[in-house]
Amino acid sequence: MAFKRQKYQKLTLGSKYDRHTIPIFHASCGNRTTPLLKTLMTNRCMNDCKFCPFRANRGKSREEWEPKELARVAVKLRKLRKIEGVFLSSSVKRDPDYSFRRQVESVQEMRKLGFTDYVHIKVMPGTSRDLIKQGVKVADRVGINIEFPNKGHYEDMKLHLDFKQDILKRLRWLSEEVKKVQEQGKCRAGMDSQIIVGASDETDKEIIKISGYIYQKLDARRIYYSKFEPVPNTPLENKDPENPWREYRLYQSSFLLRDYGFKSKEFIFGDDGRLDLKEDPKFTIAKETDLLVDVNESSREELLKVPGIGPKISDKILKKRPFKNIPDLRRAGVILKRASPFIEVSGVRQSKLNKWLN
Ligand code: SF4
Repeated sequence: MAFKRQKYQKLTLGSKYDRHTIPIFHASCGNRTTPLLKTLMTNRCMNDCKFCPFRANRGKSREEWEPKELARVAVKLRKLRKIEGVFLSSSVKRDPDYSFRRQVESVQEMRKLGFTDYVHIKVMPGTSRDLIKQGVKVADRVGINIEFPNKGHYEDMKLHLDFKQDILKRLRWLSEEVKKVQEQGKCRAGMDSQIIVGASDETDKEIIKISGYIYQKLDARRIYYSKFEPVPNTPLENKDPENPWREYRLYQSSFLLRDYGFKSKEFIFGDDGRLDLKEDPKFTIAKETDLLVDVNESSREELLKVPGIGPKISDKILKKRPFKNIPDLRRAGVILKRASPFIEVSGVRQSKLNKWLN
């Protein structure tokens, strides 16, 4: 299995913008990559989160975009066909409103200059509702990085925030504002979030619980999991980097929550609250619950529980059934190698799990 790499490319735009190195980020998007101008409004931060390269107490050169300047650079890069969108975030220079307002002003300026492409911005925890509303109106995607799954880890990582007020409340506001704009059919706005994996001693159980809430109650488009990498000159510089398989299993779990109707309580964890890194979480659930689904009788929801059957294939099964036998399911695209121990056709089963595993 190959992990997708995201690549940066540095660009010089000419004398006017020489003081900035322009970072172009190639984001994986299906079979292609999309070049984005990915940058922080500023990396000046008043906070001191233990894991972060931009923490106030870390010696580092600090820079800041002016909203108008950033907008001009984005428009110029678009004209040169160097980017197809902008991904903006920020450290917290003064207060959350100041930092988010600068992002919103940049996007408003870009739109004034005719930039119609994708723009992604990040709400700072604690931002006021009115600003969130303004951000949702101009951007295509608006996120809040929750970083850790609950308040205990905020204390551990020295994030001086109120998890309930500054994070959960803002996520709810953001979700409500996004819904309003979507209902008006005015833009493509959606919300997302990000969680750091492996910096604190958070468990997969905690991460999946909060992910389920964000997908199923707040209707997020996507949660990103970012595996911890130690940063020199931070309190966590000697901590081991997180195993990339953990990040991968969390992504698989998150798609089960978002697209397959799984509930967080259905996942199977070890005594340490972690997923099995060696096994697809959907397979583990099917195996441990002795799943058996009759493809001629079951609902879409039940079909989606079967390893090897995704949303498109379950729709095809519903359309093409009844099936005569299990090999017949190939015409609906079922991956029999994975599905066969968990399915039967009109009461007939081809392969029992033990036999199949052997
Ligand atoms: S507030 Fe954000 S940018 Fe600042 S130290 Fe914490 S994680 Fe880093």
